[in-house]
Amino acid sequence: FSDRFLVEFARRITDVVRPTDMVARVGTDEFAVWVELNDGPTQASEMAQRLMESARQPFLIDGLNVSTTVSVGLVSTDNDHLSCEALMRDADIALHHAKTLGQDRVVPFEPKQRERSTKRFVIESELKTALAHNRLSVAYQPLYDIVTNTIIGFEALARWFHPTLGPISPAEFIPVAEETGIVVDITAFVLREATQQLARWQRMNEAFASLQMHVNISGLDLAKGDLDQRVHKALTSARIQPHHLVLEITESILMETVDGGFAMAERLRALGVELAIDDFGTGFSSLSNLARLPISSIKIDASFVRELAAGTPQEAIVKSVIALAKSINKAVIAEGIETVTQRDLLVALGCRGGQGYLMARPMPPEAVHSMLEEMDAHAAATV
Ligand code: C2E
Ligand code: MG
Ligand code: MG
Repeated sequence: FSDRFLVEFARRITDVVRPTDMVARVGTDEFAVWVELNDGPTQASEMAQRLMESARQPFLIDGLNVSTTVSVGLVSTDNDHLSCEALMRDADIALHHAKTLGQDRVVPFEPKQRERSTKRFVIESELKTALAHNRLSVAYQPLYDIVTNTIIGFEALARWFHPTLGPISPAEFIPVAEETGIVVDITAFVLREATQQLARWQRMNEAFASLQMHVNISGLDLAKGDLDQRVHKALTSARIQPHHLVLEITESILMETVDGGFAMAERLRALGVELAIDDFGTGFSSLSNLARLPISSIKIDASFVRELAAGTPQEAIVKSVIALAKSINKAVIAEGIETVTQRDLLVALGCRGGQGYLMARPMPPEAVHSMLEEMDAHAAATV
């Protein structure tokens, strides 16, 4: 079926271009078109538009009507191309940008796309093997009660150390993982690691038994439908109580997946797991959703904390978020606390939860273990 579709599709392309132009299939579903034009850029994009238009017309294959969209990357030889390979590579880069922007688009190549693409390409092509070969790990950042300065839990953060590129930030690879779908496997990995670590840490001392573990989940996890089963499995195999696990969902994801997300949030809540809204203030939550959602805490985004000072608009915003959270019975955690001034102001505003470099950075599990051992010894000494 797909072969016949490709043949039909290729025919459409050859119908659009002139007999003197060249068309080649260069990938499973990728074609290269080589055309000589007088007024390159304008004519080329007109031709691309005609190609897209033609592809949109339904194809009748085996009695079935199918339609498709195409993404087009444009490159012209005046972009200082020395070799045919370089030309093809840049066309591919532009094509990739077209695909990331959404289907059915034409994107002309620009040299600045190159740098972003190399790294992205590495991420996309190597993330899967990195996960399979245990090159991903989890760092844990302690969360604090900033009034008493005691640890209340941890946030599990995915880490990737690339053999040649060094550490790659989750801010870079998680979005790619979301696009390719592998984020679901990353969540599974982090969930498993983090719940097992928590179980070990809770057992070190009775005083640690109520520590919570926060795990970030993506929109894809929410949409998949079996997240609650996967979470249940992780909890039972690590033998931790459901309310010691907090799943963090960003505000924008929650708003994008209103229906499906809401149903899944309810099911997770029914398991006894807690939910938190991450990066609060960066999306546009409707207040009615906020009250309806089965969440237990709100994490104020670091961007507000960074600019926090007495008399600033950020102070007013943070103050009202704290008041709002209190009135609907949700706990608040401020993210990205880096200075004493920020922390003191947050305490004065009535914020109890905090996370940030001032108190502790994300760290490998061994470092958390030593930290807890020290606290344990200290507690024993003071008894
Ligand atoms: P997030 O969930 O909001 O996590 C907090 C981020 O802020 C972490 O960045 C943390 O290292 C950083 N951070 C904490 N305190 C401070 C501070 O005082 N100053 C500054 N400048 N930064 C601070 P990280 O680890 O780079 O993660 C970035 C984002 O990537 C996370 O933001 C989260 O959205 C995503 N992410 C990380 N791990 C996972 C994961 O396992 N699954 C999913 N779906 N997303 C993840
Ligand atoms: Mg988070
Ligand atoms: Mg956050």
